[in-house]
Amino acid sequence: MREKTILHKQARTILTKASGFLQGYSHTLNPYVGCAYGCSYCYVRKMPIALFREQSWGDYVDVKANAKSLLIKELRREKQKGPVTVFMSSSTDPYQPIEYKEELTRNLLEALTEDPPDFLFIQTRSPMVTRDLDLFQKLKDRLLVSITIETDEDSIRKQFSPQAPAIRGRLRALKELHANGIQTQAAIAPLLPSSPNFPKILRDHTNRITIDDFFMGDGSGGKRTKQLNIQNKYEPEHVYHWYDENAYKKLLRRFQQEFRDKELFISQQGFLPPT
Ligand code: SF4
Repeated sequence: MREKTILHKQARTILTKASGFLQGYSHTLNPYVGCAYGCSYCYVRKMPIALFREQSWGDYVDVKANAKSLLIKELRREKQKGPVTVFMSSSTDPYQPIEYKEELTRNLLEALTEDPPDFLFIQTRSPMVTRDLDLFQKLKDRLLVSITIETDEDSIRKQFSPQAPAIRGRLRALKELHANGIQTQAAIAPLLPSSPNFPKILRDHTNRITIDDFFMGDGSGGKRTKQLNIQNKYEPEHVYHWYDENAYKKLLRRFQQEFRDKELFISQQGFLPPT
């Protein structure tokens, strides 16, 4: 992994009003600014927080050093106003490598278990997420942990996000959380080329699958992704089959062989608080 610039900063606020794709939530919660995984397709690359930085996306991480004290205060205030449903995280990975040392996400989870929100959705692609199983168990059905598994083929993962954790570790983490009674899902998001075996592999790892793609999920009908030239990352034999707005239907049909319809979600539906 390339060397990262790590800065400790004081944040002004930690709970942000949710909007757009995440409008089913009251707030988003991002412990860090920046993301060391630097996925090629990350839509945050085209957002102001990334565009106005000198360094490239993936090369820096700001640690919000005062995040826990802010969260305790803001959570108390927001809960007085109405239901608090939190999406962690929308523009960073809460379990990226710096979290081993900082334990910032864990500190925030401690605050969230002491004063629980109505619902918490955790989105990550890191196997480190299992470290916090003890805290997840305290949140019970107020929590859903979503682990990104875009493909079952690690060679494909390496083409699109070489700095992100290997697929094998993510599968292991998903299985462990599921086996321990945590509500989980595999987020095939963005869907990448995968083998016909993918649904069978996931069958005993979780009972919830969400499929999303560049066209439905980047917030601009695929335009942002196109600007990132993602199509050039596909091997020629993949482009027309998988970089296509109908590819999700083919993947869905494969998953319908192993999963019931009520276990399968498409795009935004899979990232909203379960009803
Ligand atoms: S892990 Fe998520 S936030 Fe981080 S670079 Fe990848 S897509 Fe972006």
